[in-house]
Amino acid sequence: MYKNLIYGINTLVPLANGIEVPYINFDNAATTPPFVSVIETINNFSQYYSSVHRGTGYKSIISSQFYENARDEVLNFVKGNNKYHTVIFVKNTTEAINKLSYRLKDEIGDGIVLSTYMEHHSNDLPWRSKYKVDYVQVDKNGRLSLDHLEYLLKKYNGKVKLLTVTGASNVTGYLNPIYKIAQIAHKYGSKILVDGAQLVPHHPVDMKPIDHPEHIDYIAFSAHKMYAPFGIGVLIAPKATFNKGHSEYVGGGTIKLVTPQDVIWEEPPQKEEAGTPNLLGVVALIESLKILKSIGMNKISNYERELTKYTLERIKKVPHIILYDDMDIMNKVSIISFNIEGLYHETVANILSLEGGIAVRNGCFCAQPYIQKLLNISIEEMKKYKQDENLLRPGTVRISFGLYNDYQEVNILIELLNQIAYNRK
Ligand code: PLP
Repeated sequence: MYKNLIYGINTLVPLANGIEVPYINFDNAATTPPFVSVIETINNFSQYYSSVHRGTGYKSIISSQFYENARDEVLNFVKGNNKYHTVIFVKNTTEAINKLSYRLKDEIGDGIVLSTYMEHHSNDLPWRSKYKVDYVQVDKNGRLSLDHLEYLLKKYNGKVKLLTVTGASNVTGYLNPIYKIAQIAHKYGSKILVDGAQLVPHHPVDMKPIDHPEHIDYIAFSAHKMYAPFGIGVLIAPKATFNKGHSEYVGGGTIKLVTPQDVIWEEPPQKEEAGTPNLLGVVALIESLKILKSIGMNKISNYERELTKYTLERIKKVPHIILYDDMDIMNKVSIISFNIEGLYHETVANILSLEGGIAVRNGCFCAQPYIQKLLNISIEEMKKYKQDENLLRPGTVRISFGLYNDYQEVNILIELLNQIAYNRK
């Protein structure tokens, strides 16, 4: 539906037999292609591109103003509040979460962080390397157990300082009820971080006013998953988070005064952004937010849901298919994980590429604990795979849609999957 918005949409790629076909990108959960207007805006802005916060020249002033105003645009997109929140530009979601985990050291102290078995490693490892962490279980379908969440919050009796949870799984696309989860977390005195990497590009998000029981305290997301590449991501947090101490990276841009004896730090967010910032990344992000807003996140979400529903209805009829999906279409984003019985996930992914020009991803998607649960693999078994290079690794094939994918592309996928399943040994 929105193909004309996408840069490089008509790229032809060679199949194994040498024939060239249009590239079908079903790997949007990893990285989306850029919007045409993002590339154009980058080009146009480049004539004004200059150092941010470091010059008196006209271009430097324009660049600095753009960069600072961008923070409000970002807040506006997820309904944050500039009186209370600050927007820190980082490289990506991973950097945002690492930064937050470092900056919450005083607040969390020897308290507990609750993560979940559904997380991308980027929303697990930064916490477990610094704090006592426990994990909320998922049920047999891979849905987060809110009963277990509440059980853990009760068990730790006020010691849980942060619940860190993904807004949507990068393996199954399952949406977590973040507002309900926020309300539960707050009831027990915990704050909540939403990993928005797979949520913000596909669904409307509302951080809600700070006095609302369902408000989101912190959110992180990456521009390269929302049609704006160029190494930029966002951490949104209460300004107060950064009052004390300083960032793990310090240097130019972070200080008001330095003497041989003293340092007086800037206010957040500048305090948190050491070095010359990625202005063109921010330009790209703001343009992509503009396009997403002009289409409307509800419309995007509805379109992608219909496409996912169509795909699920067809894919479940492919012989020998194993779907990791509870078919609750209203509560997932446009990601589907599957296997074909008796075939290695990598083999299926390679055939899709070499015989259909279809890009997917296969493996564990940086979410090994979740894959263990979904595929019902014991930890001992998982370790065996790590020790023996010759064993085939557990995992799935993942297709993930962007707003520009269409029904015709899905039909090509289904036809090829039917052939693969039919020809399997
Ligand atoms: N969280 C989730 C749910 C993701 O899907 C990803 C990337 O796939 C990340 C975090 C990490 O994002 P990035 O690689 O942009 O830091």
